[in-house]
Amino acid sequence: MKIVSIHERTVPLESETSNAAISFSTMTASAVVVEIETAKGRFKGLGFSSYGRYGHGGLLNERFIPRLLNAQPEDFIDQAEGNFSMLNFWDVLMQNEKEGGHGERSGAVGVIETAMWDAWAKSEDLPLWALLARDVGHADDGGVAAGETVIYGSGGHYRNDAVDAQDIADEARKCFDDGYAWFKIKVGGVSPVLDNKRIEAAIRVAGASQLIAVDANCSFGNNGLNVYLKQIDEFSLRWIEEPVNPLDYEALTATIKSIQTPVATGENIFAVADVVNLLRYGGLTPGRDTLQMDIVLSYGITEFLRMLSFAESGGWSRRDFIPHAGHQLALHVSSGLGLGGHETASVLDTPFSSVSVDTKIEDGYAYLSDKPGIGIEYKPSLYKYFDGMLN
Ligand SMILES: [Mg+2]
Repeated sequence: MKIVSIHERTVPLESETSNAAISFSTMTASAVVVEIETAKGRFKGLGFSSYGRYGHGGLLNERFIPRLLNAQPEDFIDQAEGNFSMLNFWDVLMQNEKEGGHGERSGAVGVIETAMWDAWAKSEDLPLWALLARDVGHADDGGVAAGETVIYGSGGHYRNDAVDAQDIADEARKCFDDGYAWFKIKVGGVSPVLDNKRIEAAIRVAGASQLIAVDANCSFGNNGLNVYLKQIDEFSLRWIEEPVNPLDYEALTATIKSIQTPVATGENIFAVADVVNLLRYGGLTPGRDTLQMDIVLSYGITEFLRMLSFAESGGWSRRDFIPHAGHQLALHVSSGLGLGGHETASVLDTPFSSVSVDTKIEDGYAYLSDKPGIGIEYKPSLYKYFDGMLN
C-alpha cells in the first residue's frame, strides 16, 4: 500500500446553535482526502472532523501529513503478517509524539485515520462496518447484528430565536416520527424553570421519561449537591450527560452518588490513558452508565479499540459505549463492532445530522448498506464540504 496524496481543507460550519457551554457559530472542521494505491488500484478515502472542536489544519499540515508522505510503503506493513496494518499506520502518525497532552492532536490524528479507514475499506470493496466485523470482530452476545445498530436522536439545542417548550415538543415529535429510539435535549443553558418546561414537553411527546435524556455540557460545575441537578433527577430520565467537568473524577463520583439517574460521559476525554482514570476513579457503573468517547476526536479507531479493551477487562460491555456525535465513522463502528448504539442530530441539517441516504432508520434501529467505505459520499449535507477536493 502506497500513499499517493493527502489534502486537508478547513471549513466553517456556520451553525447558529449553542449548548449550555459554547456557541457553534464560529466553529470550523477539517475535511481530509487520502489517496492510496494498492495492487487493486487507486482509492480515495474521506475523513471529516467531529462536532464540538475546531479544524486541525495547522497540526495536519505541519506534522501529520508530511510524516505519512515521507514514510516508505514498508513502514505500513506488519512484518509478521506481511499485510498492511492500521497499527503501523498509526505508529507512523505518532512518531516523535510524547505521551500525554492529548489536546487537539488526538483530533488531527483521528480525522486522518478516518480517511485512511475509508480508503482501506474501499480497497477491500467493503463497507467499514463489514471490514471491522471481519477483521476485529462483532460483539458475540446475540444482540443487535452487524450492519445494524440502535440509533437515537439528539437536539434541543439553544438557538438565538427559539428556546421554548413548544420547539422542544416539535423536535421530539419529529425525532420519534423519523424512527429514532429516544431523544436527548440540552439543559443548563437557561433558567431551571424554563429547562424544566422543556423536559416536561419532551416527555409528554415521548410518552415515557425513559425515552428522554438530557445533556448538561458540564454546566453543573463541580457540585454534587447542585439543587437543579436534584430536580432533574426526579424526572427519572434515561441519563444525565456530562453533569460536571470531564476530568474532575471526584466531582463526578460525588454527583453520581447524589442522584438515581444513570450518567453518560466521555465525549471530552481523548485517550486510553484518560479512559483508564475515568473508569478507575469516576464512580461509573458497568451496565448502568454510558461511555461516549468520540472516536474521531480520540486518535481514531486504533485508540478506541484500546479503550474498549481496557473497559472490557474491568467488566464493561461494548454495549455500554454509545460514541459522540453523529459522524459516519461512529455509525459504522457501532454496527461493525456491536456497540450500544449511535447518536446523531435528528432535527438540524448539518454534517452531523441524520445518516447517509443509503442507511434506513426504522423502529429505533439504523440499517446500513453494503456500499464500500463509510458513506460520506451518500450524505449531501456532509459531502458538500469536499467539493473540488476529489478531482
Ligand atoms: Mg454531549
